[in-house]
Amino acid sequence: MTKIQNFINGEYSHPISNGWIDNYCPANGEVYGQIPNSTSEDIEIAVEAAKKAFPKWSQTTLEKRSRILIKISELLEANLDLFAKAESKDNGKPISLAKTVDIPRAASNFRFYGNAITQFASESHESIGQNAINYTLRQPIGIVGCISPWNLPLYLFTWKIAPALATGNCVIAKPSEVTPMTAYLLGEICNEAGLPKGVLNIVHGLGNTTGQAIVKHPDIKAISFTGGTSTGVTIAKIAAPMFKKLSLELGGKNPNIIFADCDYEKMLETTIRSSFSNQGQICLCGSRIFVEASIYEKFKKDFVAKVKTLKVGHPSDTDTDIGALVSKQHLNKVIDYINIAKKENGIVLHGGKTVSIANSEHGYYLEPTIIEVSSNKCSINQEEVFGPVVTIMPFKNEKEALQLANDVKYGLSATLWTNDLSKTMRITNLLKTGIVWVNTWMLRDLRTPFGGVKDSGLGREGGFEALHFFTEAKNICLKY
Ligand code: NAD
Repeated sequence: MTKIQNFINGEYSHPISNGWIDNYCPANGEVYGQIPNSTSEDIEIAVEAAKKAFPKWSQTTLEKRSRILIKISELLEANLDLFAKAESKDNGKPISLAKTVDIPRAASNFRFYGNAITQFASESHESIGQNAINYTLRQPIGIVGCISPWNLPLYLFTWKIAPALATGNCVIAKPSEVTPMTAYLLGEICNEAGLPKGVLNIVHGLGNTTGQAIVKHPDIKAISFTGGTSTGVTIAKIAAPMFKKLSLELGGKNPNIIFADCDYEKMLETTIRSSFSNQGQICLCGSRIFVEASIYEKFKKDFVAKVKTLKVGHPSDTDTDIGALVSKQHLNKVIDYINIAKKENGIVLHGGKTVSIANSEHGYYLEPTIIEVSSNKCSINQEEVFGPVVTIMPFKNEKEALQLANDVKYGLSATLWTNDLSKTMRITNLLKTGIVWVNTWMLRDLRTPFGGVKDSGLGREGGFEALHFFTEAKNICLKY
C-alpha cells in the first residue's frame, strides 16, 4: 500500500487532519494506496511556504531557472520506466502509451519551457517625436494554482507547472485525486534537480475540498485549470469576485469529418487512434465521426472490421491497445451513455459491453464501441462521454458537414480529412473550434496555442501563450 503524501516546502508530509482517501487500481479494481484528504489548512501551509520562497525565486536568473527545469526533464527521462509503470497502474492506460506519450511529453514540457523562458523578451517602443521610451516588464504573478485532471495525469500537470515556474511564480498544484501517483513522485525529482523549497507545492485531495481551497485562497492570484466544463463554471464563479486570472481548458465533443477525396488508408488508421487512444479518454478524441455519403458504407464496414482487431487487455501488457477505464464510477457513466444512445435509436455496430480479463475480473474494461446515429441532436452526440465510444453518421455535402460539426456546445478541436485545398481553407476558416487538424490528429508542436472556444474553455495554453498567462504586463513610459 503506497501512502501518498503532500509535497510542501520541499518535504513530504501527512495532511494536517490525517484524513485519507483510497486509491484504486483500474486494472483490477483493488485499493492499492491512499492519498491525503487535504483541507484548507494544508493549502494555508503550502501558501505560506510559497510566499517565503517567492522573493528569491522571482529574482533567480533566467539561466538558473532554465537549468533547473531542464534538469527536471532529464531526471524524468532517466526514470522513464518508473514513471510509466506508475502512470499505467494508476490510470489504467496501456504501458506502451505511458512510455511513448505521457512521460516523454511531461519531460518535454519542462525542457520546452526551460528553453522558452530564455527567449521570452519584453517589448519596447520608442515614441518618436515625444522623447519617450516605453518598455514592458513581464513580471511573475506571485503564487498561482494549477489543477489538473486524471486522463493525462503527469502530461497535463507539468504542462501547467513548467511555464508557471519558468516565469518565476511559486506554485500550489493539485493533481486529480484519481491519479495522484506520478505527481507524488515528481516532488523528489524536483528536489534532486535543485528546485528551491517552497517553489512548487503539491497538495493532494478532492476537488470540492482541496481544489476549492486553492481557488478560494485570496493570495493565489491565478488559476490554471484543466477538467470538466461544469467544474470550470464553479471555479469561474468563485474566482470572479477576486478578479483572479483564469485559464480554463474544459470538455470537448470533437468532430472527425471525412470526405471521399481523402487518403483513405491513412484516415482509417488515424481514425482508430483518434477514437480510442487512452480508452477514448482524451479531450481531443474525435468522438463524432461524419462521413461523406458516397463512402459511408465502405467506411462503416472497414472501420468496424479494424476496431474488432483491437485488443482490450491488462494495462501492463505491451500488446494491449485498450486498457482499463479510470474508475468504476466513470465506467458506469460511459455504460449509461451507451444505454441512452440505444434508447434514442442509436445502433451499436460494435462493442458496448464490459470485458473480463483473466486474473483481473474486477477491472474497469469496456469494448471499443461504435454507434451509428441518424441525428446529431441525440445525447451521445451532444454530451461528452469521455470513453471508448464513437458515433458515425453520413453527410451529403460540405455545407451539411460544417453545420453538423459546429452544432454542439463545445468547441475544442476538429479533424478534417480531404485532399482538396480550397475545401480545406473554406472549412477550417468556419469551424468553431480552437484547434483543427487536417489529414492528421494530435500532432502537437509545443510552440502553438492550445485551447477551445464556446464551452470548451477560456484562454490558451502552450508556447508563449502560457508565459503570457503566468505573467503580468507592466508598461513603463520614460520621458527623456
Ligand atoms: P474534473 O473537472 O472532475 O476534475 C479536474 C480537476 O479539478 C481534479 O483535480 C479535481 O479534483 C478538481 N476539481 C473538481 N471539482 C473542483 C472544484 N469544485 N474546485 C476546484 N477543483 C476541483 O475533471 P476530470 O473528470 O478529472 O477530467 C475529465 C474532464 O477533463 C473532461 O471533461 C475532459 O474533457 C477534460 N479535459 C480537458 C482538457 C483540455 O485541454 N481542454 C484536457 C484533458 C481533460
